[in-house]
Amino acid sequence: EQSNIIGREAVAAKRKQYFYPCTAHFYRDAPQLVRGSMQYVYDENGKEYTDFFAGVSVVACGHCNPAITSRTIEQLQQLQHTSTVYLTQPNVELAERLEGLLPGALRRTFFVNSGSEANEGALLLARMHTGRKGFIALEAGLHGRTNLTMSVTGLQMWRTDAYLDEDVTFIQRPYHPEMTLEEAAAQSIESLKAVLAEKGDTIAAMIVEPIQGNGGMIMPALSYFREVKALLEPYGILLIDDEIQTGYGRTGAMFAMEHYGIVPDIISMAKALGNGVPVAAFSTTDEIAASLNKPSASTFGGNPVSAATALAVLDYIRDERLPERAAELGGRLKAGLLLLHERYPAVITDVRGTGFMLGAELAGSETEDAAVRTDHVLEEMKDRGYLIGKNGIGRNVLAFQPPLVVTAENIDAMLAALNEVLQAIH
Ligand code: PMP
Repeated sequence: EQSNIIGREAVAAKRKQYFYPCTAHFYRDAPQLVRGSMQYVYDENGKEYTDFFAGVSVVACGHCNPAITSRTIEQLQQLQHTSTVYLTQPNVELAERLEGLLPGALRRTFFVNSGSEANEGALLLARMHTGRKGFIALEAGLHGRTNLTMSVTGLQMWRTDAYLDEDVTFIQRPYHPEMTLEEAAAQSIESLKAVLAEKGDTIAAMIVEPIQGNGGMIMPALSYFREVKALLEPYGILLIDDEIQTGYGRTGAMFAMEHYGIVPDIISMAKALGNGVPVAAFSTTDEIAASLNKPSASTFGGNPVSAATALAVLDYIRDERLPERAAELGGRLKAGLLLLHERYPAVITDVRGTGFMLGAELAGSETEDAAVRTDHVLEEMKDRGYLIGKNGIGRNVLAFQPPLVVTAENIDAMLAALNEVLQAIH
């Protein structure tokens, strides 16, 4: 049945030969994954891995979840694609479902295919609505790899275009390793105030991740975004909430911005909305949506297969109470990580985040740089059958963002393996 599998070495060689050389690698010996089932993936030798990475927050409902794939397949066999000039039911139903989940007066949705495209649309919309060109973004944020989304990306490793848009002002993020979250938030607010005083009337929008993902699982003080919103409002500057990595239950809320008690002007979505099938969107109010005033449509955005899949995803999140599950089991995982932080304070220096959006920062030693040590831990955990992620400015933060269907037993077993690995380092 698996006779077409060519094996890890051959796949690695072909990747090296035919992909662009920049293609990023996590592992010295990356496994070749050939099958997935809920919180597990399997390599070509049948070795099982418990997935604590979920392809960066993507397969939140689990790999190949039959409750979702059955509806994808059903739609695929019934009507796969039409032009947006025709009426189809799945995309309007999806927009209606999102309206019920979105906060405040956000009720209109534009469908696209990737997170970059959703943010690109949101940024364009903000320019159209305000008639201004400038953007404010947070240092170490990540918003995509199109020209404009890369321009508002603060993380240096993801900024590779030589001609990025220059109308972007980065402000200090509400985190600093030597400060409390409140102090860091206050400093960030001060830098925002300074930018607004200088050129507030040239700024269309500020774009933020409610919890920075690739920036190292940075969750600001709870008062931060309320202060940001209050400062932007007098200038008519829109707040774009990038929920691409944090959304749809992962943090214990449908959208992570709910933790801060504010309603943004635009929300962008992608990743887990399709649980592995490309679906993305940006949503806003009636008034702002009206500013996108030229015919605009995406060939694949909101196609029947993607829309039917996203509807199945939202049903599953609701029926299985995944936000509650993420809050509860994420708490268990975080408590376990904090225990390891206490036990190995010279190795784990910080544990951050909420729900299943968690990070553990690692320190280096005299002989091993922190990023190298992080790679070592990833490799050791992979050999023990656990896939975890890494992020952060220094690539030294272990990222735990599993499918929301992982069990308490999975979490305890992973923590035991991590304890073993850290003990050996210690
Ligand atoms: N925003 C955030 C917060 C992300 O994490 C990512 C992807 N890592 C993107 C935007 C870009 O999404 P995509 O890769 O689907 O274009």
